[in-house]
Amino acid sequence: MIVIGGGLAGLAAGVALAESGWRVRLFEQRPFLGGRATSYVLPDGEHVDNCQHVTLGCCTNLDDFYRRVGAADKIRFFDRLLFLDPQGRRGEMQAGLLPAPFHMTGAFAKFAPLTLKDKLSIAWAMLNILQTNGRTWDVDQFGGISMLEWLRRRHQTKGAIERFWRVVLVSALDEELENTDARYGIDVFWKAFLSNRTGYRMGVPSVPLAELYDGCKTAIEQKGGEVNLRATARRLQIENGAVTTVHFDAAREERSDAVILAVPHTAVSDLLPDEWKRKDSAFRNLAMLKNAPITGIHLWFDREVMTEPFVTLLDTTTQWIFNKTALYAPPNGAGKNSAKGQYLQLVVSASYNLLKKPRQEIIDLCLKEVRQALPAARDANLTKATVIKEAAATFSPEPGVDRWRPKQETSVQNLFLAGDWTDTGWPATMEGAVRSGYLAAEAVLRKEGRPHQFVRPDLGPDGLVALWARS
Ligand SMILES: Cc1cc2nc3c(=O)[nH]c(=O)nc-3n(C[C@H](O)[C@H](O)[C@H](O)COP(=O)(O)OP(=O)(O)OC[C@H]3O[C@@H](n4cnc5c(N)ncnc54)[C@H](O)[C@@H]3O)c2cc1C
Repeated sequence: MIVIGGGLAGLAAGVALAESGWRVRLFEQRPFLGGRATSYVLPDGEHVDNCQHVTLGCCTNLDDFYRRVGAADKIRFFDRLLFLDPQGRRGEMQAGLLPAPFHMTGAFAKFAPLTLKDKLSIAWAMLNILQTNGRTWDVDQFGGISMLEWLRRRHQTKGAIERFWRVVLVSALDEELENTDARYGIDVFWKAFLSNRTGYRMGVPSVPLAELYDGCKTAIEQKGGEVNLRATARRLQIENGAVTTVHFDAAREERSDAVILAVPHTAVSDLLPDEWKRKDSAFRNLAMLKNAPITGIHLWFDREVMTEPFVTLLDTTTQWIFNKTALYAPPNGAGKNSAKGQYLQLVVSASYNLLKKPRQEIIDLCLKEVRQALPAARDANLTKATVIKEAAATFSPEPGVDRWRPKQETSVQNLFLAGDWTDTGWPATMEGAVRSGYLAAEAVLRKEGRPHQFVRPDLGPDGLVALWARS
């Protein structure tokens, strides 16, 4: 078995198949694993994630994958999400004592950045989602409407849209509401906030991202497989409807019973023979998937400027501030107030407006916002800053996008696809990538005649939602 691509999709497929007895040979073009969810070392020795990555309690397959590779204890979960507006008003999302779907009612009632009218309109839309168990009859009927249109049909106030729906969904889906398929937006609220009490809990790695994948290499090698880094696949040779050879740089050629292509969707086309791109619309349709950007801004201060582990800002370009110094510190608190200062990482999803801006301009803009939000930062000196722009961070979940996403099984008999862009039902996330890898592994085993299920089910409804669903 050859797996091309060492991102989460390729790793999940590789580890699952190795556990099922396949000898997996994984080829990754970069010198490290993790793909878009990774970290590297800056020239001055500082470890940085390409961007802060977070998971949620509802990401059951990512959780399963971290457990398989021994990384689960490197994810720290938080029950409280904090929001801050430029006027200094705070809001929280945190489960109280009531059962789902009312578990957030107490925190929501006290959410200061929203008016009573905003809250009533949000409650109305939430009721709509509950009534349909997270399904969306008007979306299905019209074949993909935007989230913004869905919200307008439910008479959402401007405040509710800008300070609630946009804030949660742009971060979760990396796209503006007007360009997001409502199905995805509704799914976020159903799975993470309404159907159960724990789906919203936010998991943040306590180590640089690349350290989460150490166990993958071991899992594959222990079963006789290999992980090849700096190995760029250039072309798949297909004869009589099956891949016969994978051609790599330096005239290296490898043959295998089956191949899983786990590269980004933009890289698939270069690897396939023209004849197959002409013949199979599943390959041609990949050109219809659009990219959405995320920008990470890394700021180092000469002193502590923030005590919270992370905070969401409202009405600013900066969407999230992560306190990396605290997040990397041991849970007992040692090292949180590092004498060396403090490292913050800011995230801006759907950052179309930042792509063309010079890096210094982005740093100045975000620094101003950080100093407004965090009074302690006003007197602190910025000792270092860097900006990482990921222009193709995710595929854009635009209305109707699902029709362009291919299944993991292809018309080439021994070729399988994995990647967050394949048909998983999930948006471009680490959970989506792992699901795609598991689905590709399931497809391989099905073809082999020994079906096996790797994909874990979603978190089930609990509390009153479970009673309602049963009745
Ligand atoms: C800035 C940013 C922030 C994000 N934040 C979050 C978040 O907070 N939470 C979340 O869940 N998701 C987040 N995501 C999305 C998440 O990172 C991706 O959905 C996921 O990592 C995709 O995994 P993948 O395996 O499908 O693809 P990739 O990670 O892109 O893996 C593909 C791999 O294939 C390799 N490759 C490509 N061509 C070849 C070739 N010819 N030969 C060999 N190897 C090749 C690449 O080097 C890469 O390692 C974020 C993404 C970005 C970019």
